[in-house]
Amino acid sequence: MHSLEHIIATYLRNDKKWKDEVIYWGPMGCLTGFYLILKGNRKPQEIYQLILDSFLEVEKYNEVPGATEVNCGNYLLHNLGMAKWYAKEFSDYLKNNKDNPLIFEYPKTKRLVTDDGNNFYDS
Ligand SMILES: [Zn+2]
Repeated sequence: MHSLEHIIATYLRNDKKWKDEVIYWGPMGCLTGFYLILKGNRKPQEIYQLILDSFLEVEKYNEVPGATEVNCGNYLLHNLGMAKWYAKEFSDYLKNNKDNPLIFEYPKTKRLVTDDGNNFYDS
């Protein structure tokens, strides 16, 4: 996740079309996904190609950008091989489900209520 964060953040923030639209790219605390916050209000279908290209980009890297003691507070927590493996898995999934409308919807579940009556939120 950390290596994907570095590589894709580098890609997004250098992409000529999108770099000025990116507000945030980073992993969810549970490490099961990423948040991408862009300026404006877009339908998920409008950023399909951006997401696909971002994950396809990972294969091109021979080292993780910024994975040094100077640039990253947890520079030892990188694994380029696993980043490439997961990026291929996800990009294959996106390509194979391009026409599946469900990939454009955030999964909906019933919101958990804590013992003291608060709704649970993970972000
Ligand atoms: Zn880092």
